[in-house]
Amino acid sequence: MKRETAIWISLGAGNLLASAVGVTAGLGVLPKQAVVIATVLALLTGTGFLLLIWRHLGKLRKISQTLDSQAMIVPADFRSTVLEETAASVRGYSLKVKEQVICVQEENQALSLQLQVLGRRKSNIEEIINSIRDAVVVSDDKGRVILANHSAEKLFGFKFDPQSPKPVAEMIGEEALQLLIQRCRQSRTAHVRHELTFERGGEPVTFDVVLSCVLDDTSGEAAQVVTVLHDVTREKEIAQAKNDFVSHVSHELKTPLASINAYAEMLVDGEAEDEDTRNQFCEVIQSQAQRLGRLIEDILNISRIESGLIKVHKETHSLALVVRDSVEMIKSYAQEKNISIDAPAPILYDQVYIDRDMVSQVVINLLSNAVKYTPAGGHITINSELNEADGQVTVTVTDTGVGIPAEDVDHVFDKFYRVEANNKYAKGTGLGLNLVKQIVETVHSGAIFVTSVQNEGSTFGFTLPLSVDAAQSVS
Ligand code: ADP
Repeated sequence: MKRETAIWISLGAGNLLASAVGVTAGLGVLPKQAVVIATVLALLTGTGFLLLIWRHLGKLRKISQTLDSQAMIVPADFRSTVLEETAASVRGYSLKVKEQVICVQEENQALSLQLQVLGRRKSNIEEIINSIRDAVVVSDDKGRVILANHSAEKLFGFKFDPQSPKPVAEMIGEEALQLLIQRCRQSRTAHVRHELTFERGGEPVTFDVVLSCVLDDTSGEAAQVVTVLHDVTREKEIAQAKNDFVSHVSHELKTPLASINAYAEMLVDGEAEDEDTRNQFCEVIQSQAQRLGRLIEDILNISRIESGLIKVHKETHSLALVVRDSVEMIKSYAQEKNISIDAPAPILYDQVYIDRDMVSQVVINLLSNAVKYTPAGGHITINSELNEADGQVTVTVTDTGVGIPAEDVDHVFDKFYRVEANNKYAKGTGLGLNLVKQIVETVHSGAIFVTSVQNEGSTFGFTLPLSVDAAQSVS
């Protein structure tokens, strides 16, 4: 009876431990050891049972032999009752043992299944963390990096090894970030956000840094600090560009408006005494109103292209014919300044898939700038060139004008950029070349370029990809 109790205690303890190991494994701690312990335990308890039954059977054999030897004096019905009871008891034991063994086996199977699932889940999580473009760094309560994704490795230039966690200070060179992680752990702040700027490749890179402190469920102590760094450099540049744009627009609009207001007031106050002065004032108002109109038109066109809201009607056209028509439109303006325009004969197979009106506007803008910034008697050459190998056509407008100082050349396509040295030659908004760039590059996937030498002249040009049909017929 005592042995029986001992066996059940042993089995119960075995199951309990196996379950405990299961739970531990479920938590991701000692998974392999858990299976080994559970298996060994199951084997030990099973073996214990078998040994016990074996001993019982031995005893029974002895009783049976004794009964046999005393068969003469023990009544037969007594002997069979003893045997039946013993046999029933053994059958009971063996059934229970069987049930327990099956139970342990099932638990074992469930455990290894659970471990497989956990293993897969772990590698899944690793893949997900590594696929995040933001840098992710997790440090433990001792300030050691216990997890880092590929973006973090790239950003801080380390190789993360989960087997040997190293201190944050050793892995991350940025002291400001080290300090933030340390502070977040000490203050146990659930979420804290900061903006940090690091230097990468000689350029400042700004990050939106979010730190979260994960507390231990039982002790409530800071267990881990999760740090996520999101690169916001581009967003900041865009926000800055938007601010600059708005302040530029309001500044540019204010000037002609102020002028219109002033002259209109003088007219109302009767300050223009004679007809000539009145006409002069009216002309100023008209030209400033036109300038205002051009500004608004350009601003709207640029922002429509930038926001992708502009309606584009693309068809296949010969670029040389678009150039020829644009030259015709600008000719009289050039003649007024005694500037000659040299345009070559249209080339073959220069079919491009374009919005004709937009590309005409590009050519007219470049030609009118060439006329504006070329002194009287100068010369303009417009050229088209077909590059079969690259499948593109290049148009260049070369003038013998005032040119652009070297320090300004890279900026002439910026919004509202006007070359200080050239302001005296012509009025303008500083938006024309930006619009040209948007039409060529954003709308038509082409490229715009400029070369210039001050006091000698400039060449502005653009390339457009050939339409698919044209590209096939030249290849
Ligand atoms: P704007 O309305 O001022 O002409 P653009 O965007 O068309 O504005 O041109 C920007 C600046 O580039 C101009 O202010 C001018 O100084 C310079 N620029 C443009 N084209 C030429 C050119 N062909 N020769 C010399 N300078 C030019």
